[in-house]
Amino acid sequence: MLSTMQDVPLLVSRILRHGSTVHAESTITTWTGEGEPHRQSFGETGERAARFAHALRDELGIVRDDRIGTLMWNNAEHVEAYFAVPSMGAILHTLNLRLPTDQLVFIINHAADRVIVVNGSLLQLLAPLLPSLDSVEHIIVVGPGDTSVLEGCRQSVHDYEQLLEGRPSTYDWPELDERDAAAMCYTSGTTGDPKGVLFSHRSMYLHSMQVNMTQSMGLTDADTALPVVPMFHVNAWGLPHATFMTGVNMLMPDRFLQPGPIAEMIESERPTYAAAVPTIWQGLLSELAEKPRDISSLKLVTIGGSACPPAMMRAFEEDHGVRVCHAWGMTETSPLGTFAHPPAGLSAEDEWPYRISQGRFPASVEPRLAAPDGTFAPWDGKSPGELEVRGPWITSAYYGGATGEPLRPEDKFSPDGWLRTGDVGVITPNGYLTLTDRAKDVIKSGGEWISSVELENALMAHEAVAEAAVVAVPDEKWGERPLATVVLKEGAENVGYEELRAFLAERIARWQVPERWALIPAVPKTSVGKFDKKVLRGQFAAGELD
Ligand code: ADP
Repeated sequence: MLSTMQDVPLLVSRILRHGSTVHAESTITTWTGEGEPHRQSFGETGERAARFAHALRDELGIVRDDRIGTLMWNNAEHVEAYFAVPSMGAILHTLNLRLPTDQLVFIINHAADRVIVVNGSLLQLLAPLLPSLDSVEHIIVVGPGDTSVLEGCRQSVHDYEQLLEGRPSTYDWPELDERDAAAMCYTSGTTGDPKGVLFSHRSMYLHSMQVNMTQSMGLTDADTALPVVPMFHVNAWGLPHATFMTGVNMLMPDRFLQPGPIAEMIESERPTYAAAVPTIWQGLLSELAEKPRDISSLKLVTIGGSACPPAMMRAFEEDHGVRVCHAWGMTETSPLGTFAHPPAGLSAEDEWPYRISQGRFPASVEPRLAAPDGTFAPWDGKSPGELEVRGPWITSAYYGGATGEPLRPEDKFSPDGWLRTGDVGVITPNGYLTLTDRAKDVIKSGGEWISSVELENALMAHEAVAEAAVVAVPDEKWGERPLATVVLKEGAENVGYEELRAFLAERIARWQVPERWALIPAVPKTSVGKFDKKVLRGQFAAGELD
């Protein structure tokens, strides 16, 4: 028997309508790097989104399912595109501006974007790619920039503000199928070509509700959220949509992502919440050590995207009084994922094992652990397996290109349709995930597994170590052994491997302590700021020694 409930489709336009009316007074503040930041209310954002949709439809001829690329920083105009494009029935394709240019060209062509909306400050990046972008007909330039670099290009060039001028401030948003694609994002392609994930209206709506739950980010209209995580990195972890549901104010860093400006904007705009990958926070901690600023407005910081070293969490809390919540997710999971809020009723010290885990699964992300012997590992906090997940905001395939079928590579999807995450870990009986590694980063030494993450976390707890990344190198006797690459803090250059080795030996099993060490000036990073172990493995393939 069917229920008596109304079948109202869960659409991005509903989030927009709600945010721009009920929370019309909430604001998006965009950092400009000079004088006053740019401030715009949610109400104005709704009007501008409507104007933009009119321009796309009436001036550029954009229709349902057309892909609109954005090559933009986190700013108010990017939020306008976030809402206008899916609400009118087109698909927003956020472009990772840090991808190698051949991959950028690949994803734009693969998605067959018809339009690219680009910040003026990024024209130098886009212009040389244009001759290779077959599907792109229009370039829309947002904000000041040197448009002379676009001279002679085949595409028609528009100024964003001129496009919006004089157009109606309301739009009759179509009633779409909630399962239609609303946005797309390509994985950062750490192995092979990037793969496209298509988010639906329904998945984005439900995901936003999860973001807003107290067991996730749990913000209200009394908060201001600072998404340092880029809007091209899995929709800034869902923040722009979630904030429009609850009226949370946003502080947008635009292109000012260096530790200095981030510290400055936190001190002057006093956000209560921020989210980013560990690399950003490491940079901020060093900056604050050198030049103290007041970041006490932050009540909560989410660190995720790669393993957050426990030492970093402690440093935030003990030195700055800022609580950190660790979280796990991936492009394929929209990205939430788990959040490491501890269970109720524990002492601060007893909370730590939960807080340094990757976190607890929410109701809509169902996990299981595929053990190497083909069974599923029990949730006993000890038995490892590859994490597989399913749920309403988990992808069931990758985008197959304009004419192709969805792609379901065997190593990414189980025969019964679960997403294979490539992450290896354990789950406790009460649903907390601890990842020991990515399957491809585990060090297989003499038939035993060594967790590179565990070694890195232990090393980064040493006061002289700024960053540490551990990779497997070939070893005649053991098959593989860990090689520790270490970045020392300024002024700590006299610390030697012996000391680090002894430090590790007190914290992890002795047989796991690396024999091979290398001091490096910085750990290479991927386009979203994670440790790039593929590059490290390449550099140290021969097992460079101390
Ligand atoms: P890519 O796979 O292209 O690097 P994603 O941002 O989708 O891009 O990365 C998802 C992966 O990042 C996860 O599968 C996991 O390996 C890693 N990851 C994300 N969050 C965490 C975390 N808190 N701890 C450890 N690893 C994490």
